[in-house]
Amino acid sequence: MKADLHVHSLFSPDSRAQLEDIIAVAKDRGIGCIAITDHNEFKAFELLKDRKDIIVIPGEEVSSSVGHIIALGIDRQIPPRLSIEETVDLIHEAGGYAYAAHPYRMWSGLGEDNTRNPCFDGTEARNSRSTGRDNRRAQRLAAEIGKPVTAGSDAHVPRHVGLGYVELPDTVTNWQEAVEAIRTGNILGVFSENRNSIRSIFYALKTFFKFSLRGFRKI
Ligand SMILES: [Zn+2]
Ligand SMILES: [Zn+2]
Repeated sequence: MKADLHVHSLFSPDSRAQLEDIIAVAKDRGIGCIAITDHNEFKAFELLKDRKDIIVIPGEEVSSSVGHIIALGIDRQIPPRLSIEETVDLIHEAGGYAYAAHPYRMWSGLGEDNTRNPCFDGTEARNSRSTGRDNRRAQRLAAEIGKPVTAGSDAHVPRHVGLGYVELPDTVTNWQEAVEAIRTGNILGVFSENRNSIRSIFYALKTFFKFSLRGFRKI
């Protein structure tokens, strides 16, 4: 079963993706499980938790003071701007697991040293909004760290949903089993597209532009 473990919806300040559109694209692409990981928001899960047509993992992409952390399996919203250790402690208290997101991304990535922090439960090895080079490095770093890995599209618009995923055993039937499979490294593979170089240039310009519109505050 394909599981896209990094998806943004309209509850993220930088996305307008409607939940119904996200799910429609996911199903079209054969994705059986998604984690909605909005920036510092946990609202989507409440609206999706009773879906029968797709497994939805409660999640959040938490902006720690150092960089982005993917929380999976949490039961409440985790506040931003805390240290890595404080953030991971809160994720664990909320019943979830913490993964270092896109380690090599400019501004929002944790960087190599922080990604090695032993408090993490694992590493995001592939992200379809990362360049091929950053994905190769992230996958190598994740292998070196030796903990479980995640992957996802990091979609902010519905058409990008499903461009990154992990392959879970087909025996998984609910989000708790999905989280458990990920936590124990019981995944059959990781996949993601790469951001191409034209998109990369565009992304760098757009990110800087939005960053300037926010008065140079990070998300
Ligand atoms: Zn991020
Ligand atoms: Zn993201």
